[in-house]
Amino acid sequence: MTKLIALFTFLFISIAAFGQTVYTVETIPDPKQTGGGYVSNPDGVIDASTVQNINAVLAGLEDSTTIQVAVVVVNSIGDEVPGDFRTKLFRYWGIGQEDNNNGLLILLVMDQRRMEFEVGYGLEGILTDIMCVRIQQTYMVPLAKEGRMSEAVLAGVMQVNQILTDPQYRDEVYADSLNNASNNAWWKDPVSGMGLGVIGGIYALIAYAIFANRKSSLKKAPGYVKNNYSDAYTKTKFGLLNIGAPAGLLAWQEIEGSLRIFEFAAILYGIFLIILLEKRFRLNKYILKEGNTLEPQETYNLFSKSHSNGWLAATIFFPLPFVLYNLFNKGRMNKLRNTPPIADSGKAMVKMDEKDDDGFLKAFQIKEEELRSVDYDVWIENATHQVKIYRFENYNSRYKPCPNCQSITFLMTKNETLVSPSYTSSGTGQKTYTCKACNHIKKETYTIAKLTKSSSSGSGGSGGGGGSSWGGGSSGGGGGGSSW
Ligand SMILES: [Zn+2]
Repeated sequence: MTKLIALFTFLFISIAAFGQTVYTVETIPDPKQTGGGYVSNPDGVIDASTVQNINAVLAGLEDSTTIQVAVVVVNSIGDEVPGDFRTKLFRYWGIGQEDNNNGLLILLVMDQRRMEFEVGYGLEGILTDIMCVRIQQTYMVPLAKEGRMSEAVLAGVMQVNQILTDPQYRDEVYADSLNNASNNAWWKDPVSGMGLGVIGGIYALIAYAIFANRKSSLKKAPGYVKNNYSDAYTKTKFGLLNIGAPAGLLAWQEIEGSLRIFEFAAILYGIFLIILLEKRFRLNKYILKEGNTLEPQETYNLFSKSHSNGWLAATIFFPLPFVLYNLFNKGRMNKLRNTPPIADSGKAMVKMDEKDDDGFLKAFQIKEEELRSVDYDVWIENATHQVKIYRFENYNSRYKPCPNCQSITFLMTKNETLVSPSYTSSGTGQKTYTCKACNHIKKETYTIAKLTKSSSSGSGGSGGGGGSSWGGGSSGGGGGGSSW
């Protein structure tokens, strides 16, 4: 009887071995769940002592860096393409910590004679595609060709470990592989990303045209500074941004199979660019329309006010259209400001120079000019001596309106801590504001929040390889593969 059981057991094992188990992403034993550490070696291709070595190295790596490396060696995955399989398996297991996606999957498929590295997003900068292939070609393929699989896998693991723990080693040995980052994706991705962003922006505009009531939004517009968006427009725009953009990105990711962080950023960039441009053109159109009933200098002030908020940042982030736009706009504003106003006599007035015009300005106005918070132009009609004074506020000035004399000469001159905050009680601070024109002083106390102990806990690494699951990291198809 026992002989019979032994025979059946033997037959069963033999069938499994010769009939060759074909693994799917779901059926490959997950070493995290079967106590195998980092290595899934269901067909016993790698010998036991090497598995032990690899586990020790990778546990050390995770302990010191939280990086998770999974090693999978199987006889067969059937007709599946190893290059796709590796991405699926990586995501199925979620190798690497979820918050920084620092995972790596090393996959070997014996019957197809393929070795594959799948690199998590967070490691793509260190383990470039070219570098992965170079490790395989230099250290693993030669051994694999001789059938020394245990040594081949160990050699690959050792290289990876060294690269990930010693930046200097990486820079010296793999300098060229580092610079030639992920193939040609660099120049391709931003273009497609920008394209998508532009499409997203156009989509937003069409939605705006459909949903927003353009006329009422113009009539209701309170000023030129505040966004003169109608409710419907705002809802549409932010709805699209908050729901549409991520949904679109997810859909795109499903279609393409891989969306790099860089692409994601480029798409957002494109969307914001379109929104900013649209906002600028709409505002300008509004101002120019209003300008028909205003003096050029008043129109200048509308432009000045509407261009004060955040447009420097826009120029820094989007230099290409906005540097040119700013040049154009500056020219237009100069022209508006210097168009001679018409006096009551019907004659064009003449602008006085900055020194002579002081005679027509009040003391606080001269002070404002001195502090560059407001600029004044004085125009005069020579025959009748009619004078017009135009006020141009500098909206980027640090000075605020004084509550006492109303001139733009008010500034915080002192900010002191009266009572320091502790871990148990909040503190008090005091700001002192002084008016440079009337010397009015205002003191304002404020509360300083209690100190908090920095809680940089995060989910952290499960450490030691003893964890029962991977960290939940994801990848975007980065990595590389080689045949032997
Ligand atoms: Zn004052």
